[in-house]
Amino acid sequence: MSLTVRFAPSPTGNIHIGNARTALINWLYAKRQGGQFILRFDDTDRERSKEEYAQGIARDLAWLGIEPDRVERQSARMAEYGAVTEKLKADGLLYACYEAPDELDRKRKRQAGRGLPPVYDRAGLKLSDDERKELEAKGRKPHWRFLLPNFESDAFAPQRTEVRWDDLVRGPQTIDLASMSDPVLVREDGTWPYTLPSVVDDIDFGITHVIRGDDHVANTAVQIALFEALGAKPPMFGHHNLLMNASGEGLSKRLGSLSIHNLAEAGYEPMAVASLAVLIGMSGSVEAMRDMDALAERADLSAISKSAAKFDMAELDGLNAKLVHGMEWVEVRERFDPEAFGGQGEAFWPVVRENIDKVGEAPVWWERLVTAEPVIGADDREFLVTARRLLPESEIGPESWREWTTALKEETGRKGRALFMPLRKALTGQEHGPDMSQLLPFIGRERILARLP
Ligand code: GLU
Repeated sequence: MSLTVRFAPSPTGNIHIGNARTALINWLYAKRQGGQFILRFDDTDRERSKEEYAQGIARDLAWLGIEPDRVERQSARMAEYGAVTEKLKADGLLYACYEAPDELDRKRKRQAGRGLPPVYDRAGLKLSDDERKELEAKGRKPHWRFLLPNFESDAFAPQRTEVRWDDLVRGPQTIDLASMSDPVLVREDGTWPYTLPSVVDDIDFGITHVIRGDDHVANTAVQIALFEALGAKPPMFGHHNLLMNASGEGLSKRLGSLSIHNLAEAGYEPMAVASLAVLIGMSGSVEAMRDMDALAERADLSAISKSAAKFDMAELDGLNAKLVHGMEWVEVRERFDPEAFGGQGEAFWPVVRENIDKVGEAPVWWERLVTAEPVIGADDREFLVTARRLLPESEIGPESWREWTTALKEETGRKGRALFMPLRKALTGQEHGPDMSQLLPFIGRERILARLP
């Protein structure tokens, strides 16, 4: 069976950088090994799931460079979940329970009072057919729990039963099924929480590796038991650490600022976002990788740290700037109008790229060159008058700056900052910016003369 992974978001909001981390780690894992990537929308919650969010997630993944081999929706698979539910009931592995939430709460408090763990006592399993009929006649509806295989012959005498797996990230894991309550697989209203649909899909879609956040570690023990109850071989599991924001809080879909869509709109490069999303919380340096192949080389599951990783916006700014400084004109030209930069984009881009943090800032520099308001200090006026007189007669080209400043140095005795800064401020209105020798040809003779006194 070929390697197959899945990314399974609920379309109840926009995905953020932490969700992107899960998607990318799966995508790169499949990419490295020539496997398949399935995008699965966990949209069984009909009220909170929205088509616009599903489309937004697909769009954001595409922006990051992820192209799923296949897209599936849980909402289209209710019949499959229904069939598996009936099979589990017939096998005696799902049993009806009628406790209301407050009754369960009271049970847990009583257990805590007696120093016992808050594990469900399987009271539902003791009900006779008549007792169940009586409850239902009173209008009570059952929810259905999965009978965990944590006993030998007496379900009311659970014994330590270890579920083990070799986690692709965290190494060998052991969870005792006797320490867990039988999970609810079907709610009172007949809908399924995530546990059963996910396992049914993972079986039907031939998922070989489930890679997800470490908030799912405890679910894994239950899901492995469920795979086995359904006669399927469990996939491999890997649980990566989660991202936190700079103040140490977990990320939520409501955190708009870190949504992939907002980062895209704010002009960040997909590879800067992808590199940071994957490489923070992994051993080795966090660098902006130029493409997915390079990032795939670095994305090693065993290099992921076990503690949460902090996402820092300043780090994203730095990575983005680094990427932009190395980008070629062919990589960015389509983002600009052909008339941008006076039609000289190809020549202007290499001059400006090291002075911008985002590609979209390049036109700001062009605007500055075209419309600069000269800044002229009183002490520099006379010097600039001389500069005007000594401006080379020949066409302003790449050599003009050297020629001009050499002549100025000889005549005025100024050097270093005292020589260059008054010219930069007069010609660009700024104290910093691209190399003056390269800017000069774009400013051109007419504007140079107009800005000098
Ligand atoms: N829909 C689940 C979630 O977003 C999927 C978890 C999984 O990957 O199994 O948490």
